[in-house]
Amino acid sequence: KCVIDAANLVKIYQNGSEELKVLDDVSIQVYDGDFMAVLGPSGSGKSTLMNILGCLDIPTAGEYYLDGLNVLTATENELAEIRNRKIGFIFQKFNLLPRLTALQNVMLPLLYRGMDEGEAGELARGKLTLLGLGERLGHRPNELSGGQQQRVAIARAIVGNPELLLADEPTGNLDSKSSEDAMRIFRELNEQGNTIVIITHDVEVADQVKKLVYIRDGKLYENN
Ligand code: ADP
Ligand code: ADP
Repeated sequence: KCVIDAANLVKIYQNGSEELKVLDDVSIQVYDGDFMAVLGPSGSGKSTLMNILGCLDIPTAGEYYLDGLNVLTATENELAEIRNRKIGFIFQKFNLLPRLTALQNVMLPLLYRGMDEGEAGELARGKLTLLGLGERLGHRPNELSGGQQQRVAIARAIVGNPELLLADEPTGNLDSKSSEDAMRIFRELNEQGNTIVIITHDVEVADQVKKLVYIRDGKLYENN
């Protein structure tokens, strides 16, 4: 099954009278069970691609189907629904809500879906425990190490069983030990059937995935 089917994506930013083509005819397919990285240097268009694949931004041209749904004809409400139901996001800066505990952060996507607190709490506790944070449920992000915060973010991303895990530089703010932990978690999640796409400039991350593509100056390449 094709989870991501994007063809001929173009993104042009308008800077005053200047046009900047940041994605140039990018086509990408991601299949159920894939463990893929998109590797590229700073400025190559990684964040732009991540935002489009994550349904946070729309391309200037091209086609994009996510899990069979035509993303580019969806309304804002439908896009929000797609993001919440189909995608688990993981970011470089973790993006946890600072005033909420680890448990509350992980419950949030479930509460947005209308799940009741009891059930959401059970599921969130289960995922945090699985990721070794069973003793940290009541801690706020600033009471946790970077590696622990990223594990909370991973728990939040997987708690709703999304079709796709989309990670943007997930090791960018981690020391090497925590980076290895995070990559081991991604590997295990993939072995359990999760489809994962990691966008990164880190070759050590890229070394560990099953499928690697390169982005340079807004173009995607299969080989370096
Ligand atoms: P990366 O994530 O690989 O660093 P980006 O997608 O963030 O690449 O950016 C690619 C290029 O597009 C950069 O030159 C950046 O300055 C430019 N860019 C990104 N977002 C915008 C925007 N909203 N408006 C104008 N230029 C942008
Ligand atoms: P990253 O560290 O992930 O590459 P950046 O720092 O390049 O991210 O960009 C952060 C945000 O700012 C992104 O959402 C990107 O689209 C936006 N952005 C980047 N460059 C520009 C720009 N020249 N003009 C406007 N927005 C930009």
